[in-house]
Amino acid sequence: MVGQDYEELLDAVRLTGEPFIGKQMPVLLSRTPDSPLETRYVDLIYLRIADADGQSSVIAHGNDVTESVLATQELSRAKQLLFDQFAKLPVPTYLWESREDDFVLLISNEAAVRAAPSHGSRAIGRLSRDLFPGMDAVREEMATALRDNVVVRCTAQFDGGPKLGMRRVELTIGPQQPSRVLVHAVDTTARIELEAQLRQAQKMDAVGRLAGGVAHDFNNLLTVIGAHAAFLLESLDSGDALHEDAEAIQKAGIRAAGLTRQLLAFSRKQILKPSVLDLNAVVGEMENMLRRLLGEDIEIVTRLAPIVKSVIADASQIEQVIMNLAVNGRDAMPDGGTLTISTQTMTIDESSVHSQHIVPRGEYALIEVSDTGVGMDATVKARLFEPFFTTKELGKGTGLGLATVYGVVKQSAGYILVDSTPGKGTTFRVYLPAVEPSAARDDLRVAEDSAVRGIETILLVEDEPAVREIARRILIQKGYVVLPASNGAEALATSAAFDSTIHLVISDSVMPGMTGAEVVRRLQEQRPGLKALFMSGYTDDEILRRGIVSSTAAFIQKPFMRDDFSRAVREVLDG
Ligand code: ADP
Ligand code: MG
Repeated sequence: MVGQDYEELLDAVRLTGEPFIGKQMPVLLSRTPDSPLETRYVDLIYLRIADADGQSSVIAHGNDVTESVLATQELSRAKQLLFDQFAKLPVPTYLWESREDDFVLLISNEAAVRAAPSHGSRAIGRLSRDLFPGMDAVREEMATALRDNVVVRCTAQFDGGPKLGMRRVELTIGPQQPSRVLVHAVDTTARIELEAQLRQAQKMDAVGRLAGGVAHDFNNLLTVIGAHAAFLLESLDSGDALHEDAEAIQKAGIRAAGLTRQLLAFSRKQILKPSVLDLNAVVGEMENMLRRLLGEDIEIVTRLAPIVKSVIADASQIEQVIMNLAVNGRDAMPDGGTLTISTQTMTIDESSVHSQHIVPRGEYALIEVSDTGVGMDATVKARLFEPFFTTKELGKGTGLGLATVYGVVKQSAGYILVDSTPGKGTTFRVYLPAVEPSAARDDLRVAEDSAVRGIETILLVEDEPAVREIARRILIQKGYVVLPASNGAEALATSAAFDSTIHLVISDSVMPGMTGAEVVRRLQEQRPGLKALFMSGYTDDEILRRGIVSSTAAFIQKPFMRDDFSRAVREVLDG
């Protein structure tokens, strides 16, 4: 104990006679002669006593209390650890003590402060009635938990202040006898909203399926109507009184086909088919549908540049983009207003000020959809493309409209920008890369009729008699030899019995019995290298996924117009 001031202490006691009592004094010592120095704690008493002849001496009594000191330190560390865990627990947690007919907040953790920022840090010591005035039911549950000594679970709503709004929470109330309850409050607001959105999305999906199913059956009928109208028109003199009637049937058929295409676009049941598109034509085709969709309170103005460079995209997807933007415009104009759709070709270069940071240099075809509606603030603008982001009331918005738009635009290598001011309306601009219309394509159109004829032999498999009949008539008109079959088994039998070359099989995709893909596969076993063209009125991802039609197979969507059909046939034969 040398050098630790204990000598001095001893001297002081000897000189003054004041006893010294030390508690838990740290000393450095070795417990055996060879062991290293260690810190021990001792309770010390130095006491001077005088004996009979006036001599004094000091009694030193030391008691090693190291074990108990260490145990106490350990205990307080454990307490701190527990407290830290409580403080950092991600779930808002409150410890209440019963006080007359209410509860006083003893302590709450950091998550609780975040959950109700308006309470600030002054919540401790206050009554639950002050802090959560609307929660009488919860107070009763807390009392029950304590009285019956059971864990109680319940749900509640409270106002989280201007930033957080109304929150829904799930509470677990645990009794801590004799007079306290510990309450965990899990915020379920977001989960409940998500569940509602999911339900809504599922509903949309169901409606989509229904619409897709109807469109499918209609497509078969429209193919028949369209083709027969074409036959009629061909056989009637243009001066004939019936010519006009036949023409009216054909036009109505084309318009109806446009409608089923909308239905399919809506139900997203189209195989993606990028093609060279004229945006003016796309917008022009949609105008009537949009007028009906948006209602009479909204004036639709189109400003189409006389010539807009073409783009490569899927027509039905671009229609979906325009439709979603238009519907949002309508929703933003509850009291009516003007929706303007315009197109133009635009070159982005160094001199273009706006958009140059986002849209890379180049030439674009631009669709602009603007409304005179409520507009949006910066927070909405920052999130509007997020799936499920909606500011509309439950059941009104899915938050999927702009997410779909964004997906399509990206898939088409394009860019979308938004300009909006609260109260001043909104403009969406979709930039799609422009392409040069190739000269070859124009030549193709001119030479069309002679190019789509042929003399090859074609096996035609289609279960719907009317569709089979018009396909057969078109093919015969174009010079082909046609072997019709109404199902897979018949097609295989016909092929087996025919001992000359079959150049092409045209098959419906979905038929009772064998699917189109299966028929073609088995025919190709008989006749290696046989070319195939699939038809279907109902081409959704499901058909692709189940391998009924592979994405690389040649494919024509019903209802088809005669020229599209004969062109597709020629392309497969030549391809
Ligand atoms: P939804 O229309 O189902 O809410 P969207 O993805 O189409 O989902 O739009 C997301 C949100 O973006 C809307 O809820 C709305 O707040 C905002 N928004 C979209 N278009 C407009 C617009 N033209 N004017 C004002 N706000 C809009
Ligand atoms: Mg929308």
